[in-house]
Amino acid sequence: MTKVEQSVKDELVQLDKKHFIHPTSNMKQLQEDGPAFIFTEGDGIYLKDVEGRKLMDSLSSLWNVNIGHGRKEIGEVAKEQINKLAFTSTFNNWSHEPVIRLAAEIAEWAPGDLNATFFTSGGSEANDTAFKTVRHYWKVMGQPEKKKIISRKLSYHGVAMGATSATGIEQFHTFTTSIAPDFHYVDSSIEALKELIEKEGADTIAAYISEPVQGSGGVNLPPEGYFQEVRKICDEHDILFIADEVICGFGRLGTNFGIERFGVTPDIITMAKGVTSGYAPLGGMIISERIHQEIIEKTEGNFWHGYTYSGHPTAAAIALKNLEIIKNENLIEHVNVVGKQMLEGFEWIKEQHDNVVDVRGIGLLGAIGIERASESVDPIGPKVVAEALKKGLICRSVVYNGQDTLAFAPPFPITKEQMDEMIIIVNESIKAVK
Ligand code: PMP
Repeated sequence: MTKVEQSVKDELVQLDKKHFIHPTSNMKQLQEDGPAFIFTEGDGIYLKDVEGRKLMDSLSSLWNVNIGHGRKEIGEVAKEQINKLAFTSTFNNWSHEPVIRLAAEIAEWAPGDLNATFFTSGGSEANDTAFKTVRHYWKVMGQPEKKKIISRKLSYHGVAMGATSATGIEQFHTFTTSIAPDFHYVDSSIEALKELIEKEGADTIAAYISEPVQGSGGVNLPPEGYFQEVRKICDEHDILFIADEVICGFGRLGTNFGIERFGVTPDIITMAKGVTSGYAPLGGMIISERIHQEIIEKTEGNFWHGYTYSGHPTAAAIALKNLEIIKNENLIEHVNVVGKQMLEGFEWIKEQHDNVVDVRGIGLLGAIGIERASESVDPIGPKVVAEALKKGLICRSVVYNGQDTLAFAPPFPITKEQMDEMIIIVNESIKAVK
């Protein structure tokens, strides 16, 4: 790739500052510094930018480009579908082949009897869909007062009104002044969950939602045996269990869905990101046969919920190809192999540095925890990220809520050699900022 002309770069920076509002960003800093990267191309685990830099993408962009960048087969499928039928609605009784085939394929991937999917454009809409659906479900089941949603502290469920209300990270709540009623947050202990249910009353609670491994909150693994206990408690109290698989779904944890790692079958799965590996915006809610049948039988009139892009034909065709690639290339098996290598690498890093206090991960989702004396002390993670960038690696630091964590979720096809390179760069970057 040739470097982009300086005048073009300058123009792009000016236009970006004036016209483009970046999601989840520091607006003042962007006005001062401009965008850190203006990307031009992606190839495998690498991204290229206008400076002509080739950078290893250790977070699969936003935990989503799971099959890696620049897969031409997906481009071919997208082109073919757009030329044939780019879009038609699926409202009411309209349908089309890509969405039918995708819904059937997802039923094959999903655990237990989770067999029916409602499609959205992303994860936030998937979670809002789940919250509205569980309330509708309890209403038609004759218990309309069951409408509260329980989520975990440090969870991230997205930014639509329901999704942001379920998110257990305070900054997202203060941004919007107030959040929706009937959302409750709980510490990640069984005791805390039991206490909350006791306090609120099970007959007012519709559902419990959790990511199998919390992503944006800092790659936090659940306590040992936690989800199995949660499943039992939900069953005892008629509370539906929603697994938010937006990051963990479709192989990230080395299983089809992340929750399977913990030996539990939820009632509902929400998903997005990995279903298309980011090649098109798509998400959805997968529900159990039982819930599906109850809703069909007991709903008078319409299911009053639908997005223009619920079941977008091009996005569906892309998802089908993406899932085929994951299967045909045995990428989930590979995730387990390189995931193990990543964790061993993190352990090795921990041995080199006194301030690395905790390393954790499952499959290709991992983190390095750095000791931080207090919230008033500058975190080290952002400095490590800056060092890594000089050495050709993009990685992410999580610093809110007193944490100092480096998060990793590389694309599935990362080779053993590339993983070694990633580990070495991370180690040298930590060394450089000490
Ligand atoms: N749930 C989880 C676990 C997520 O990680 C995200 C996105 N990072 C979302 C929901 C929201 O998805 P989206 O950004 O596609 O709306």
